[in-house]
Amino acid sequence: MVSFLKNLKNFFAPSPYSADNFIKINVKCKICGEEINVGLRKTSDFSRVYESDEAPSGSSFMIRKEVLGKKCNNLIYLTIYFDENFRVISKEIKGGEFL
Ligand SMILES: [Zn+2]
Repeated sequence: MVSFLKNLKNFFAPSPYSADNFIKINVKCKICGEEINVGLRKTSDFSRVYESDEAPSGSSFMIRKEVLGKKCNNLIYLTIYFDENFRVISKEIKGGEFL
């Protein structure tokens, strides 16, 4: 288990300030129309997808995130699946829309 965690840590390589560690997604609030820029950190927001999970085929990572804008209290729920190279495979949004 320890070595597994170690490997996982190595996998999410260092260089915390590299733009490569961020994926930017723009969404729009369904209620007030606010456009929100969401920065997803590969180091903390992504989860590994395992074969046993209910996930689209070919997906390796996923994020589930709640986004709150500044103008209203509407919570936007994102669920996005990515492949090994962090390309989007499928995405879902509730409470807003992707831009
Ligand atoms: Zn809003």
